[in-house]
Amino acid sequence: MLQDLLFNASIHPKRKQSTISDFEKAELFHSLKTTLANMTEKGGRDTEKDLFGNAGKYKTLLSKNTYKDLCPSRGNTIVKQAYLGDAVYFCSTCQRL
Ligand SMILES: [Zn+2]
Repeated sequence: MLQDLLFNASIHPKRKQSTISDFEKAELFHSLKTTLANMTEKGGRDTEKDLFGNAGKYKTLLSKNTYKDLCPSRGNTIVKQAYLGDAVYFCSTCQRL
């Protein structure tokens, strides 16, 4: 979920918080609201299953399901990196470090 929020705000997942401008914070907040509303409306992410074993209908932009595809915005390769004991996915072209 975090990866889609950051992608929609064009912010790199490894950006230091102190380097994020007020404009980018506003973008991030907007992205948070619209992305979460979209996920809720579609019954959750396609990477998770409900109690009946059905995957959500929100199609993740960046996740284990999509990282072999190309960036949904400009067609660049999606990068997967280890981060804090988990994997993080991002587009190095669209998301500013
Ligand atoms: Zn991209």
